[in-house]
This record gives sequence, C-alpha cells and structure tokens, in this order.
Amino acid sequence: MIKTVVWGLGAMGAGMAKLVAGKPGYKLVGAIDLRQEMTGVELSEINDIGEPGAGIKISRDGEKVLAETKPDITLLATNSFVDAIFPDLQLVLTHGSNCITLAEEMAYPWHSHPEQAALLNDLAVKNEATLLGTGVNPGFVLDTLILLLSGVCSQVDRIHAARINDLSEFGPTVMRTQGVGTTLREFQEGITKGDIVGHVGFRQSIDMMSDALGWALDEIIEERLPIVSDIRRETAYAIVEPGDVAGCNHVAKGMLHGKEVIRLEHPQQVRADLAKVQTGDHIKIFGKPDINLTISPEIPGGLATMNLAVNMMSSAMSGKHGLRTMLDFPLPHFNRMT
Ligand code: NAD
Repeated sequence: MIKTVVWGLGAMGAGMAKLVAGKPGYKLVGAIDLRQEMTGVELSEINDIGEPGAGIKISRDGEKVLAETKPDITLLATNSFVDAIFPDLQLVLTHGSNCITLAEEMAYPWHSHPEQAALLNDLAVKNEATLLGTGVNPGFVLDTLILLLSGVCSQVDRIHAARINDLSEFGPTVMRTQGVGTTLREFQEGITKGDIVGHVGFRQSIDMMSDALGWALDEIIEERLPIVSDIRRETAYAIVEPGDVAGCNHVAKGMLHGKEVIRLEHPQQVRADLAKVQTGDHIKIFGKPDINLTISPEIPGGLATMNLAVNMMSSAMSGKHGLRTMLDFPLPHFNRMT
C-alpha cells in the first residue's frame, strides 16, 4: 500500500484525502493542517472520509507526521506561492517523500524562481524523490492541454486561449483576491497594493509553453482589468451593485520579437449567468493546421484539480526523481486501478 500524507485540509486537500481513501493500493497515513479547530480531529470525521481515516489525528506538526509515518507520497495543498511553501517542500523531500503540490507557482518554477527550483530539484534527486506541481490551471487547461493539441501541428505561429469561468461557489479569499464587490476605485487601489491579484500561474503556464515550443520570449506582459457589472449580482459571500466590479479579467501576453505570440485570458466573475456570459475553455492555435477547441461549460476547476493531482500520483511514484513538470510524464489520464 502506498502511504499517503495530505498537507493542508482545505477544499482541495480534504477532497484529495477523500479520493485517496477510495483509491486502490493507497493508504492514508497522516494529515497536517495549521487550523486550530482541526488539531487532533480524526481524519475519518473530515469530508465523509470514514474508516480509511480512522486513527489518523490531524496535526500542526508537519515534521513529526513525516518522521512518524514515512509517507511514500505527500499531497500538499496549502498555498499558491513558492516562497510560502518552500520550507515545507524541503521538509517533505528531506524525508524522502514524493510530493504533488497544487501551488500554482510550482507548476513550472524554473524561470520565475530559478534558485528555489534548483535547490528543490537537487534535494529531490538526493533523496530519490519526485516533486510535481499541478492543477487545473496552471497545470492543465492553459498549458498542458494546449501543448498536447500542438502535437498535430507542423508549425505554430500564435496561441490564443481563454478560460471563462464563474466564481460564485468560492469563498471570501477568492472574492477578495479577485476584487469582487469592489468599486472601480477600490479595484484599482487593490491592484496597486497587490491585494487584488487575479489569476496566479500565468507566468508559469507561458514559461512552460514557450520552453516546449522553442520560443525564447522577449517578455511576458500581464494586465488585470475590472469586469464591471451593469446588473446587481449576489452570492453567499459577495454583493455586486450595478457599476461595481463582478470580477477580474486577467490577461497575459507572451511577446516574441515584439509580437504577441501567446495570449491567455482568464475573466473570472460571480454570477456570469446573470450577465449572460457563457463559461468555457477556448483554445486557438494559429499554425499548420489551425486548431480550435471549445469546452463549454468550462472544466470545473476544483474537481478537475483534485482529480488530476490524484491521477498523477502513479506518475509521481514512477521513479523520475527531481523537480518535474507535467511535460515529464505520460499523458495524464484516469485509471480505475491506479
Ligand atoms: P483552502 O484555503 O481551502 O485550504 C488551505 C488549507 O491549508 C487550510 O485548511 C489551511 O489551514 C491550510 N494551511 C495553510 N498553510 C498551511 C501550512 N503551512 N501548514 C499546514 N496547513 C496549512 O485552499 P484550497 O482551495 O484547498 O487550495 C489550496 C491551494 O491550492 C491554494 O493555494 C490554491 O490557490 C491552490 N489551487 C491550485 C489550483 C491549480 O490549478 N494549480 C487549483 C485549485 C487550488
């Protein structure tokens, strides 16, 4: 049985723990979260995990859990940023555990965080472990899937892709970081202060694609624009009055010899239905031949992230040690046995 620790038991971590609980050949052995109210709670009581979580007490002490349980693999879902999770990743690798993290910046950190990436790679190799960052985006829709489609092209001139999604199900953190419910002025102030960030991971998606396509880009330009609502919108965590901001349209452009060769758009808003916005994932490759793919509605972000990470566990256990990316493994796919 492959011993699995889950680090971070929020929406994603608790969901992955539930998936691992029902996964043939895998066994939950430890759970880590900093939240006070979770400390000491049995994993069986979280997210209907039941018997596979029996006897596993949620702990704040990552080092102790790793030392006591010696996991084969750790699923880490705590934070989006390399700087924030770097010490925890070091700890996991030092204990010789393979690791899949959902941190957006870990999907392809080689250019954005070269020093940390090199250190983590060395540590993983030294401890014969594999470290992979993945998720729906970055990790799949606006990078891996695009590159997969380019496999039938003899020439790629330009890529234009958009992930148009709805944020209505998300909680207060997402509302705040996307500027939902702010006035236009508050939105601009939030962007300037860095409180409103839009999507995390465009840099990593573009770095992954440009490396794979052989494009040495001049620069990556990012813009975060307010999605102004002309109607009232309401969710459990946000109210948007007409004229205020319903979300953030984050656009990233990869420039080659002064020309835009990659354009990624990610307009995220609440109650897209009320504004008659059809959600979906759209990929256009301009080349030989042109490719045009639409998935509508969009691939559901939370479910897809948890499923993809769990489907990648066998790849992360396959002995390709070091810091890896989605390009290093066989195509991600579901397999009911692994
Ligand atoms: P969440 O806020 O619901 O849960 C995070 C959990 O981690 C919380 O329970 C928190 O207490 C715990 N935590 C935070 N720091 C910790 C630490 N140092 N040690 C132990 N526990 C800690 O978030 P979520 O929705 O579960 O998402 C988790 C992360 O995955 C986020 O950063 C999110 O942006 C990212 N994510 C990435 C993708 C992708 O496509 N790559 C998709 C979904 C989520």
